[in-house]
Amino acid sequence: MTTLQERIADVVSRDACSGCGLCPRLDPGVRMQLDDRGYLRPVLDGESAPVDDAVAVFDRSCPGMRITAPEAPADAEHDALLGPNVGLWQAWATDEDVRKAGSSGGALTALHAWLLETGRAARITGAAAERTAPRRTVPVTITTRDQALAAAGSRYAPVGALENPDAFRSDSAVAGKPCEIAALRAAAPDVVDGEAPLLLSFFCAGTPSQKATDSLLDELGIAPDRPVDALRYRGNGWPGRFTARSGDTEVSADYDESWGRVLGPTTQWRCKICPDGVGQAADIVCADSWETDERGYPTFAEGDGISALIARTARGRETILAAVDAGVIAVRALNGRHLRDAQPLQTARRRFLFARLLGSRLAGRRPPRYRGFGLIRLTVSRPREAVRVMRGTFRRVRAARQS
Ligand SMILES: Cc1cc2nc3c(=O)[nH]c(=O)nc-3n(C[C@H](O)[C@H](O)[C@H](O)COP(=O)(O)OP(=O)(O)OC[C@H]3O[C@@H](n4cnc5c(N)ncnc54)[C@H](O)[C@@H]3O)c2cc1C
Repeated sequence: MTTLQERIADVVSRDACSGCGLCPRLDPGVRMQLDDRGYLRPVLDGESAPVDDAVAVFDRSCPGMRITAPEAPADAEHDALLGPNVGLWQAWATDEDVRKAGSSGGALTALHAWLLETGRAARITGAAAERTAPRRTVPVTITTRDQALAAAGSRYAPVGALENPDAFRSDSAVAGKPCEIAALRAAAPDVVDGEAPLLLSFFCAGTPSQKATDSLLDELGIAPDRPVDALRYRGNGWPGRFTARSGDTEVSADYDESWGRVLGPTTQWRCKICPDGVGQAADIVCADSWETDERGYPTFAEGDGISALIARTARGRETILAAVDAGVIAVRALNGRHLRDAQPLQTARRRFLFARLLGSRLAGRRPPRYRGFGLIRLTVSRPREAVRVMRGTFRRVRAARQS
């Protein structure tokens, strides 16, 4: 059996690390640091001092080692592309300030503020702009409504939500990307002081490089050496604009330009081969419930934000229904077909993932192990496209390994 450090090095060398931040919890000698491509990676910074059973916990929890889909509740509706649910709605915060501050309908932020107010959670862990240097995104602990509002909105940049020690406390609620939530769910029996925290997530297309944020700012007129006073990726509308301020200069770009052209194309490799951008390990998951055009494609039109809200567990459903009763979020029924149409990236990635994994393996890069997502069945149902995807991945991975 190899050591924890050797295992971490293996995951990083296979480019399978998602930067979730679990490693420092398993070995306090490790910290997360941006690498020269702008992705967050674990590095040994001092003496290695792994916690008890660190290797076993890492093997079953690191998203670069494996992801196993949790067993669905007996009463769940199954969706091979978007995962099981025990409740599916469109939702938005009833408080207009919260709705505006959120990326889509502000449902997560509304839940955060309500969980704190009602004492259902002692604190929420999430991610937000670094206060003094908002080019960067950092893990945060939220204990008030104002802090929840300040942390609202998607951050399309590296941040390891599990770097925050508060994420491992059973009286917290944890908001994070699906890989972070899957890692925490799998590790919880060994690293949480009791029952797993309430786990909240959102659909995730992948984490872009920090360099993409910096080059977008540069293109818009804020040079790399200029300090930034404020930076939002979305919000104040739906989808909302990327906006940044440096002194008297305020710049902005629309969603197509920011996410579509600059940020999205830099997502790290692990995200391109993710089986679970839809947060199957969470209790509650949010997504953008985009409108679709007559061909069924999302329109990204500006408007009042609407989240898709999914309960994955009975605990998640009970929480959502209580929040609706309390009047903090409004909901209406959502059809699974509508959500699939609104999420073409998620559905295509999962449908052809097995072909990508095969292409990667044939080109010499070992991917993580995935269980319980039905990937083979999905891919073989479209054999021609699957072969095209497999060849494309093979060529790209081989070229990357030779460069
Ligand atoms: C990297 C990334 C990829 C995404 N990809 C998709 C996608 O494929 N499809 C889709 O529908 N939507 C995607 N989203 C948007 C996401 O679905 C919306 O944030 C979600 O709909 C929640 O909206 P809301 O208004 O309810 O959340 P909000 O009220 O805005 O709350 C968002 C919460 O998420 C936390 N958070 C923000 N950024 C991060 C981060 N990088 N890491 C960890 N926690 C964070 C914040 O702390 C906040 O608590 C993505 C977001 C991110 C950050």
